[in-house]
Amino acid sequence: MNKRKIITCKKCFYTSNHPLGITFDENGICSGCTIHEEKYELDWDYRFSLLRKLVSQYKSKKGNYDCIVPVTGGNDSFFIVHTVKNILGLNPLLVNYNKYFNTPIGISNLTNLRTSFNCDILIQNVNPNSVKKITRETLRRFGNIYWHCIAGQTVFPVQTAISHKIPLIIWGAHQGIEQVGMFSHKHEVEMSRRYRHNHDLFGYEADDLIDNLNTINDADIWQYRYPDDHLLNLNGIRGIYLSNYIPWDPKTQHEMMVEIYGYKSREFNRTFDTYDFVDCYNYMEIHDYLKFLKHGYSKVVDHVSREIRHKRIDKKKGLKIIRKYIFNKPLYTDLLCEWLSIDKLSLDYVVNSFHNKSYWNYDVMKDSYELNSKNIYQEKLTSGSNYLEGFTSNSTINQDLTEKYITIGKGC
Ligand SMILES: [Zn+2]
Repeated sequence: MNKRKIITCKKCFYTSNHPLGITFDENGICSGCTIHEEKYELDWDYRFSLLRKLVSQYKSKKGNYDCIVPVTGGNDSFFIVHTVKNILGLNPLLVNYNKYFNTPIGISNLTNLRTSFNCDILIQNVNPNSVKKITRETLRRFGNIYWHCIAGQTVFPVQTAISHKIPLIIWGAHQGIEQVGMFSHKHEVEMSRRYRHNHDLFGYEADDLIDNLNTINDADIWQYRYPDDHLLNLNGIRGIYLSNYIPWDPKTQHEMMVEIYGYKSREFNRTFDTYDFVDCYNYMEIHDYLKFLKHGYSKVVDHVSREIRHKRIDKKKGLKIIRKYIFNKPLYTDLLCEWLSIDKLSLDYVVNSFHNKSYWNYDVMKDSYELNSKNIYQEKLTSGSNYLEGFTSNSTINQDLTEKYITIGKGC
């Protein structure tokens, strides 16, 4: 067994296993924590003035949209549209890729988003049979059910930018900067094909999914192809991240959106954060669990590390929270099985085959999270609010037996 040494950051809980790549300084502090300090050091008024200047070049004089904003019924969508429309005074075209794993809360948020901001929204519904084929293939091949969602969410805005001649795309946070400090905020990095390929798509482009058995063919994947550089350059397409111009803080931002617009949040089984991914049955459940099996960390580690960096909790409290959630078994797997037409045993078999045994064992976990298996199983899941201020939940997913993916949401 490979017993390679895993380094854990002295401040947060990220380790040298982080799939986005991470570096450590001589004091054992990770690059994510180091770059986070810029949030306290940079002149953010100045940085916001740079953003104003940048977007002013894209104000449409002919009544066209000024920019494209990719949205979902969860995450930072409300804050991004609020900033773009109400602070920067732009007229955005909202675009949404239908991931089909939609919760009632997500659909409700998306409807609220459209009406609260009085924006047009374009929704892409790829043929569900192709999406199911792709999902079965990515699950089997690299233990991922989310490839189609991320591929769709990252390509549809770019395709729309070209087809509608709206060159500016405005995203929220750059995950490589937020999590692992891949770049300084001052570098103002923009959307790139390379980052999408390496990190968003786990190294698999749409064409890589075509197989010799012809179970997936061109007709299934063409909508996930990223436009070529010639087309991007010809149309001057660029995608910027608000987090390079605003000191990004998802908790504060979400609480503001709950207050102003009634954004809906909910409690989760595998993390304490009640605001992220409320629109999806799978992201915080089976997708997160697969990530845990493959990489030894999960979303609760992201959330705890973020809260430590924002100085709202210390490491000791963070550890308690991680212990509470990280081993919880995913919910809603029956919905996924039904949607994919596979049985539960087959799903379990595939999921377990992605256990990365080279570092996924109690010895290593103990090193990373100082886990004590006795504690993990004795502690029962309770609300995150026991540990942290805020992170309130103002709704529940319908817990009735009628629970089902909302494949096409009414009113959207
Ligand atoms: Zn760190």
